Amino acid sequence: MDMQTSFLDRLFESGLLIDTGVDGLYGRSGQFEDVITAFERLIDRFGGADGAEAMRFPPGMNRALFEKSGYMKSFPQLAGTVHSFCGSELDHMSLLECMEVGEDWTKDQQATDIVLTPAACYPLYPTVAKRGNLPKTGGLFDLQSYCFRHEPSKDPARQQLFRMREYVCMGTEQHVTDFRQRWMDRGVEMMKQVGLDVTIDVANDPFFGRAGKMMVNNQRDQNLKFELLIPITSVAKPTACMSFNYHQDSFGLKWGLNLEDGSVAHTACVGFGLERIALALFHHHGLDVKEWPVSVRKTLWG
Ligand code: ATP
Ligand code: ZN
Ligand code: MG
Repeated sequence: MDMQTSFLDRLFESGLLIDTGVDGLYGRSGQFEDVITAFERLIDRFGGADGAEAMRFPPGMNRALFEKSGYMKSFPQLAGTVHSFCGSELDHMSLLECMEVGEDWTKDQQATDIVLTPAACYPLYPTVAKRGNLPKTGGLFDLQSYCFRHEPSKDPARQQLFRMREYVCMGTEQHVTDFRQRWMDRGVEMMKQVGLDVTIDVANDPFFGRAGKMMVNNQRDQNLKFELLIPITSVAKPTACMSFNYHQDSFGLKWGLNLEDGSVAHTACVGFGLERIALALFHHHGLDVKEWPVSVRKTLWG
C-alpha cells in the first residue's frame, strides 16, 4: 500500500526545501536559490530598460507607518509583529520559570517599533512621500523583500516567510494602468520563455470579516487586481505567481503622494512570488534541474 507522496514531501526528500518543523517556514537548497537568482535576472532583462530606482528594505518595517497603512483594518489575520522582552531582572526570573514549567512565556513581551513587512511595497510609499512632489514623469521603483503572512499551510506554495519582487509605479491614471498592462504582457511572455503555461484572471485580496466582503466585491467589479496563475498543487485551483494591482489614488491620498502639478498620484504595483515561481518550475519540469528542457535552461542560465 502506497500513500501518494505529496509535492511538499518530495521537495523535502530532494533537499530543495528544508523542513523546520513549522508549516510555511522552510530552508532552501543552493539549487533552489539558484533558480530564484536566475529568474530574477530574467526579470531584470524585461524591466531593466525602464530605469526603475532600486531600493531594498529589510523584512521588518516601521510599526507607526504600518499602523498608518491600514493593514490591520483589512488583513489583521495575516499580520506579524515583533515583540521583545523589556523587563527587569525580576521579570526575567519569572520568564524563565514560565518557560521551565511550560507556561506561556511570551505574554509579557512588549511590542517593538518593528512589524514584519506584509508586502514588499509597504515601506516604499511613506519613503517616497517624504521626498516631496513626484516629477512630471512620475516614479518607478524596483523592490525585493521577504514578506510575512500568518497563513500556515501544507501547500509549499503558501509560505509564511517568502520573497516578493515588485515594481511600483506612481503617476497619472493612464501612466500607471499602462505600466500594469505592460507587465501583464511581459509576465505572460516571461513564463512562456521558461516553459510555463499561464492564465490571467481577475482576483481579490482576502479582506477580513463582513465589511471585507464589500471591499472584495468592489476590487473585483473595478478590475483592480489581476493574477497570473500557474498550476502547482492543483490544476483546478492554480496558484497566483504574479499579481498586478491598481490602487487608484488610495495610496496617493493616504501617504500624500502628489505629482508636480499638485494632483494626487495614482499607483500600481506588480509582484512576483519568487518561491512560487521556482516551485512552478520544479513542479512542471521536474526536481532535477539538469533534466529541464534546454530552452528553459538557456533562458535562465544562458
Ligand atoms: P493568494 O491569493 O495566493 O493568497 P495573494 O493575492 O495574497 O495570493 P499578493 O498579496 O498579491 O498575493 O502578493 C503578491 C505575490 O506574492 C503573489 O502573486 C504570490 O506570487 C506571492 N505570495 C503571496 N502570498 C504568498 C505566500 N503565502 N507564499 C508564497 N508566495 C506568496
Ligand atoms: Zn505592492
Ligand atoms: Mg494571500
